[in-house]
Amino acid sequence: MAEALEELYPGVKFGIGPPIENGFYYDVDLGDRELSGDDLDTISQKMRELAKRNVAFERSDVSKSDAIKFFTEKDDEYKLELIRDLDDGTITFYEQGAFTDLCRGPHIPSTGRIKYAKMLSIAGAYWRGDQKRKQLTRLYGISFPKKSQLDEYLERLELARQRDHRKLGRELKLFTFSPLVGAGLPLWLPKGAVLRETLINFMRSEQLKRGYQPVVTPHIARLELYRTSGHYPYYGESNFPPMLDETGEDGYMLKPMNCPHHIEIYRSEAHSYRDLPIRYAEFGTVYRNEQSGEISGLTRVRGFTQDDAHIFCTEDQVKDEFKDVIDLTITVLNALDFNDFRAQMSFRDPDDHDKYQGDPEIWDRAEQSIREAVAETDLDAVEVKGEAAFYGPKLDFMVRDAIGREWQLGTVQLDYNLPERFDLTYVGQDNEKHVPVMIHRAPFGSLERFIGVLIEHCAGKFPTWLAPVQAAVLPISDNFNEYAESVASRLRERGFRVEVDDRNETIGYKIRSAESDKVPYMLIVGQKELESGSVSVRRRGSGEQGSETVDIFLERLRSETSLV
Ligand code: ZN
Repeated sequence: MAEALEELYPGVKFGIGPPIENGFYYDVDLGDRELSGDDLDTISQKMRELAKRNVAFERSDVSKSDAIKFFTEKDDEYKLELIRDLDDGTITFYEQGAFTDLCRGPHIPSTGRIKYAKMLSIAGAYWRGDQKRKQLTRLYGISFPKKSQLDEYLERLELARQRDHRKLGRELKLFTFSPLVGAGLPLWLPKGAVLRETLINFMRSEQLKRGYQPVVTPHIARLELYRTSGHYPYYGESNFPPMLDETGEDGYMLKPMNCPHHIEIYRSEAHSYRDLPIRYAEFGTVYRNEQSGEISGLTRVRGFTQDDAHIFCTEDQVKDEFKDVIDLTITVLNALDFNDFRAQMSFRDPDDHDKYQGDPEIWDRAEQSIREAVAETDLDAVEVKGEAAFYGPKLDFMVRDAIGREWQLGTVQLDYNLPERFDLTYVGQDNEKHVPVMIHRAPFGSLERFIGVLIEHCAGKFPTWLAPVQAAVLPISDNFNEYAESVASRLRERGFRVEVDDRNETIGYKIRSAESDKVPYMLIVGQKELESGSVSVRRRGSGEQGSETVDIFLERLRSETSLV
């Protein structure tokens, strides 16, 4: 790609160009030139032409001073900066025909091995990710040995594009962003808010069944709280700057995490072993000052709500608590038609004794508890050593979506650090004070991100229990608007979300409109339905289901939307 760029746009300067999970990119400085989609095709063609020449890639070792000399002549300040940052010693160049680049390698033997290469997209990127430096052009491409593999990949990309939650979020009127409110701060529109509330209520009721207690805490807290927890000043970069008081020493901070607040609730009274486990749950909104370049749709935001809970328990209770969280997570994922998921147990590196806080024997027992908890459920999980946080082992959930992409969701994290920092205790059976184990858990992780993943998984076709509008009543003419309203009222009285489309449009138009809004049920009403107290049922995506009385349709909705 770089060789093609140099042939097409003489004088182009090259920054960094690594391989990535799907293909490769290069950050380049094209001067005043702006590239369009057509240019991408031109570059792709040039790449194929160069590949056909089948020129060998030749590696050479050069000294740092020769490397500097080469790129000084080329007037490429980016490569020069990279070279100056390298250790002294040998630097490697790769040469193909007239093109030479700085590269660690290795390379395939010759360009002829490149068969199906294609440019994918253009983006802007600051040189070395630094917003204060020049914005370069980032060019993405990909290459496959077989045409069928490229076609398959492009098809998958197209599927992903059609399901893009930013696109569907706009079309289905779920959420929006306002530059005046700020990047990364989603505004939930009425339909999105219904979706979100429905998810929250489902999770809330599942948690109540499992003995969680709701708590509510403020969005800010004193800096002192975060000094105690260790979140301030160390997480400096990702926190919004604090609101300092007149002394400049103290003040408040937007909360980056809910844990310290929940700890203070635990500390508000004395506890005995009889009280444990205590499970405090809150849909708590937290704030992180993500860099503007990293903000994207709902997946990277600056304010998000966690389905958070903190469990305070004894060491003996760890296994059952993990089991219960696994069971809750599976219940929730199944209700959302995520059927392919797995987990990773992140344990410590047993050879690295200095890295981890807490007694190694306690770690051993905790890891064994997690292992047993996983084994006693249906969860497919792997064990990875050396991946634990310094303060405790954890279990991470990953789901695979309908088009095969894997997403990391929530975590169950054991914590030996915060209970000590906050001096948490309970009185044991022996009448002595003990330190409780703390478990952080958030099965969705961030609600915003989770909803983003969910939208892409189901392509906006939410299961009926979750759909913002569950049924649309469509009168075939104005004469039946009144009957349509009466049907809607009966459904609404039973708690269903129903809209009436009483616009002066044809029935065909109304059906198409409800289909494109991805409403699960369309209820068409005309003279026959009015006379028989029925509705003509259409199911999203599968067409006519025949006539049903309103009572029978209500029964259908009720059974389809009762989850457990
Ligand atoms: Zn926490």
